[in-house]
Amino acid sequence: MSIRQRAALLLIILIASVSCSSFLSAHVESAATLTILYDNNQVDSRLRAHWGFSCLIAGTEKTILFDTGANSSILSFNADRLCIDLRLVDVLALSHAHADHCEGFGAIPTGSELRRVCVPSGFRQDVLDRLPLEDAEVEEIDGLTELCQGVFLTGPVGSGIAEQAIVIDASDGLVIVTGCAHLGIVSIVETIQANLPNRPIALLVGGFHLLQEDEAAIEVIARRLQELGVQEAGPTHCSGDLARTVFRQVFEESYLDLGVGTIIGIAL
Ligand SMILES: [Zn+2]
Ligand SMILES: [Zn+2]
Repeated sequence: MSIRQRAALLLIILIASVSCSSFLSAHVESAATLTILYDNNQVDSRLRAHWGFSCLIAGTEKTILFDTGANSSILSFNADRLCIDLRLVDVLALSHAHADHCEGFGAIPTGSELRRVCVPSGFRQDVLDRLPLEDAEVEEIDGLTELCQGVFLTGPVGSGIAEQAIVIDASDGLVIVTGCAHLGIVSIVETIQANLPNRPIALLVGGFHLLQEDEAAIEVIARRLQELGVQEAGPTHCSGDLARTVFRQVFEESYLDLGVGTIIGIAL
């Protein structure tokens, strides 16, 4: 799906969601949405930008919150402004145990639909112990696992900090979302390709962890991702402003300028 097609789909979704009560049930046939609820980059002035990352995947078999940002008040505020009822989240998937991805957990109201909390194996127990889980069961994800129809968690990629990415198998290829990509955005894409071969990578978004890299190194990474077949890219969160500039130059019209409030339409 090209950016223009995504924009058309997004317009349909937005028209369908004019009423707050209808956002998660607003059905565009075979379309999912990826909504960035928490990010340090601002694209919608109604929302609060703050260091961290969270996105909601809706329209798939299960409604999935991927990460929670750092602060539950900010996550709740942004969800309210976007007419998203976090009680309807079925599954919480945490990319890794850093506070800017986990500490907003309290924004999921008591009495919610949440039954599954999926963390990469090796996730810090002391962080898990602080989460108010209520009726939710914790699942440790060890390798590529299908969370619900067409949505996968990678389990921990590489060694070191336990971190996983989430992948949606969309009609035009894989949509990959990363939290911080501490182990390298290229390694994550290569691992996903090895586990889900013969599928194009339609879209790669999230934290690419490039704040410490200089312009030349970032350009090498962006071009390597293109060589691997990444068609569209949206670096945000811990990618940094320099990476956003370089990716914009390398990916040209296939670069996505993301921030809190971005809604991406995904045809399933
Ligand atoms: Zn991190
Ligand atoms: Zn982070």
